[in-house]
Amino acid sequence: IEKGTESDINPSKLKFIKTKNPKKKSKPEDLVFGATYTDHMLEIDWVRNSGFSVPRIVPFHDFVMPPGCCTIHYALTCFEGLKAYRDKNNDIRLFRPDRNVDRLLGSTKRLSLPGFNKEALLEAMMRYVDIERSWVPNKRGYSLYLRPTVFGTEATLGVKEPSSMKIFVIASPVGPYYKHGFKAVRLLAEDKYCRAWEGGTGNFKLGSNYGPTILPQKLAHDPKIFGGCDQVLWLYGPKKEVTEVGTMNLFGFWINENQEKELITAPLTDGTILPGITRDSILNIAREWGEFKVTERTWTMEELLKAQQEKRILEVFGSGTAAIVSPVKEIVYQDQLYEIPRNPSDPKAEMGPITKRLLDRIQSIQYGEVQHPWSQVV
Ligand code: PMP
Repeated sequence: IEKGTESDINPSKLKFIKTKNPKKKSKPEDLVFGATYTDHMLEIDWVRNSGFSVPRIVPFHDFVMPPGCCTIHYALTCFEGLKAYRDKNNDIRLFRPDRNVDRLLGSTKRLSLPGFNKEALLEAMMRYVDIERSWVPNKRGYSLYLRPTVFGTEATLGVKEPSSMKIFVIASPVGPYYKHGFKAVRLLAEDKYCRAWEGGTGNFKLGSNYGPTILPQKLAHDPKIFGGCDQVLWLYGPKKEVTEVGTMNLFGFWINENQEKELITAPLTDGTILPGITRDSILNIAREWGEFKVTERTWTMEELLKAQQEKRILEVFGSGTAAIVSPVKEIVYQDQLYEIPRNPSDPKAEMGPITKRLLDRIQSIQYGEVQHPWSQVV
């Protein structure tokens, strides 16, 4: 940890130490998510009564941690996930990066770590992406995944505000989430394990929200459950509210009880839903289309199954940075398997027409094929 002298992140003083051992880049087709990292990382330290260090872009390296580090014991860590895309002019673009920095600041404060200047962090991040630009794959569906992270670094077993923290960003070139084209998934609607709850931290991107989801996710793969499910559909409360799927937000496109076409997703009001940037983008795009009702409200398993029985479900999909959209083909709930339609005119289609249109629209913005304020050139 570098003791700093700056009162906040100061990108104008950024230091760059270039690696002497640049790594060999593998073919994009061979990329495995989160297994390959670029040559450098961005690091900024903060120490109480001393301040922020200057931002440093340095060769990718390991950390040394004292066994008493508060993060090891009390999970004082939060993170973000966003991607850099290469467009046809070889410009590098970020998709709504201000939203990720904003969400990271919220998570940091929830951990009682100090705030920081969002614009300054974004500027340092842009410099970092610029330096690593040769790592952004040149292929549609491929990108450079960025992982900004903030964690408490103080060596203390006291459950208290850490007196020091580290902000860092690492980057990993990634291929499409679905290697062989989009595949519709089977969900296990989970009413025993709960991802998030009112008054909890589900609406922040804290490391502590994720570790405990791995066991239910593993149990969902059990072949005894109709051969195994792909993802967990997180339900909440006695009404079995439909909340999120795996690490994605969830959307339903249906004919509602009033016989209106409607895109529906859970609201951000009770703190149980991660405010996804893809979720927000989808809501914006669908509202701009103005072709059907777009609703953020609590919806329940009972409503979903009733609509399924009455053949009012048109499409169901998850949304997130990793896959953009993830179509749903089946939901297992209380030992019953329910089929979810995708495309009435093509029963074999993995993805419904609205899901596909949203995917195409978002990708065309991300890859700079259309001009849009959400896409920021580095
Ligand atoms: N929900 C959860 C729990 C997540 O971890 C993520 C991924 N950040 C999302 C939803 C989707 O968010 P975004 O669209 O910003 O990737």
